[in-house]
Amino acid sequence: MQMDSSLYNEVLYLCTMSQTTEKAKQLTGEDKFKNIVSHAKEYGFIFQSSEIYENGLSAVYDYGQYGAELKKNIREYWWRAMVQMHDNIVGIDAAIFMHPTTWKASGHVDAFNDPLIDNRDSKKRYRADVLIEDAMAKIEEKINKEVEKAAKRFGETFDAAMFRSTNARVVEYQNKIDATLSRFKTALENNNMEELKQIIIDMEIACPISGTRNWTDVRQFNLMFSTQLGSVAGESDTIYLRPETAQGIFVNFLNVQKTGRMKIPFGIAQTGKAFRNEIVARQFIFRMREFEQMEMQFFVRPGTENEWYEKWKQTRISWHRTLGFPEAKYRFHDHIKLAHYAKAACDIEFEFPFGFKELEGIHSRSDFDLKQHEQYSGKKLQYFDPELNQSYVPYVIETSIGLDRMFLATMSQAYQIETLEDGSERVVLNLPPFLAPIKAAILPLLNKDGLPEKAAEIVNLLKYDHIVTSEDKDTIGKRYRRQDAIGTPYCITVDHQTLEDNTVTIRERDTMKQERVHINELARIIDERVSMTAALKKL
Ligand code: ATP
Repeated sequence: MQMDSSLYNEVLYLCTMSQTTEKAKQLTGEDKFKNIVSHAKEYGFIFQSSEIYENGLSAVYDYGQYGAELKKNIREYWWRAMVQMHDNIVGIDAAIFMHPTTWKASGHVDAFNDPLIDNRDSKKRYRADVLIEDAMAKIEEKINKEVEKAAKRFGETFDAAMFRSTNARVVEYQNKIDATLSRFKTALENNNMEELKQIIIDMEIACPISGTRNWTDVRQFNLMFSTQLGSVAGESDTIYLRPETAQGIFVNFLNVQKTGRMKIPFGIAQTGKAFRNEIVARQFIFRMREFEQMEMQFFVRPGTENEWYEKWKQTRISWHRTLGFPEAKYRFHDHIKLAHYAKAACDIEFEFPFGFKELEGIHSRSDFDLKQHEQYSGKKLQYFDPELNQSYVPYVIETSIGLDRMFLATMSQAYQIETLEDGSERVVLNLPPFLAPIKAAILPLLNKDGLPEKAAEIVNLLKYDHIVTSEDKDTIGKRYRRQDAIGTPYCITVDHQTLEDNTVTIRERDTMKQERVHINELARIIDERVSMTAALKKL
């Protein structure tokens, strides 16, 4: 029976998913993370910035030949899903440097701070809020373990909700979390640094390096990088490297609305570099000092913001789920600390090898940003709503995702070590084919007899539509492994039969199954199987 291509892709996808679950069990947490970091370097995805100088610059990374392609494809998936698929969203590309008053209006000059604390013994610096959140997460873990144990003991009759509300130990843990959460929230709202330190002391949080509780006071630290505009320092103004791309959208709100004749509701999207002088720069590309954001501001009529907030939450989670990673890898996390102007805010968290962490933020920001810019610039940033026959400052729903974090989430999910039937191991990047850096590798079986020339013909056939590569060194088995390790979904092998009947074998990365097809069929087959369009249609 001939399978239609979408069914074929579903079957491949299901095979991949079942293998993934099995393999994921073998390698988790810290070990998996270390493997991913070294794999990313060894295979040309990510290098430490300027590494030849004393191990390079910390928390700054360069994307290598495969990393740049994967990153570009993730960006494209976002851009097409947000801009191309929505006739009321347009994209812009604003400059990194902005007028310094922008950052006064946005609140970044006064309030873009992180509370930091040092351990005197290890000399390590931490974010006080992160220490507290991690400590609460550990208590939560203890509760979950108690619940799991009890569920095993009581079997089918187990009532988890009842157990949580009556078991003395669980209730004690929960009370501790609730009490800390309430103190934490108030301390953050009031910028009360003494109280943050007191929570750290009361929770008996120790430095993971020195193991001691010898803490300094908590201090605020502004995360913006500054530099001078113009050549004569002193005479020139201090300007900042943008810490987020969003402000480039707000200041252009009217330009785009007027020139694009946009009607509310409408969105403006942008991808680009942002810079933050992060205190605790660790976890590889999860927290960088120079990174890339993909942000969209959606302008709505006041009073409709809740509806749009819910809609954007669903639209964004569906974008993530369409990648085919397990649903359990994502969760929503509502913010406990809301900015005074914010109506609602949540994160989409992803389960990285080091636990669930923020991947994307969705924020209902009221008319705060535009009003601030009105106030500081003295220019009106209003929209005339023809249906209401009135002008107003629109409300904003923002979706904001870090491209590098998305890259790390993708790598973490894709990286697998498989044990094959013959007992050997292979490392494979199980990337969704439309994100893979190289779509197909054309491999002449031997480096002679006219096979490399035939392979070159196939490269020429495919290269106008896809990034393809050709390799003739090493055994075919070694070449397959290398392509598996960079996530190439298809290897096309040219052998002596190819010279006779113009057929080649296509080997599929995840199943390792091979099929023999005519060269005339290749372009259609590769197009169908690596198509981003198919993913966009599922959104
Ligand atoms: P965090 O709490 O992790 O510092 P944030 O809440 O400050 O993140 P936002 O200001 O909401 O982050 O930025 C939006 C997105 O940009 C985040 O969800 C994240 O994916 C990404 N991002 C933020 N800071 C960094 C960074 N230092 N390195 C890489 N990505 C980042």
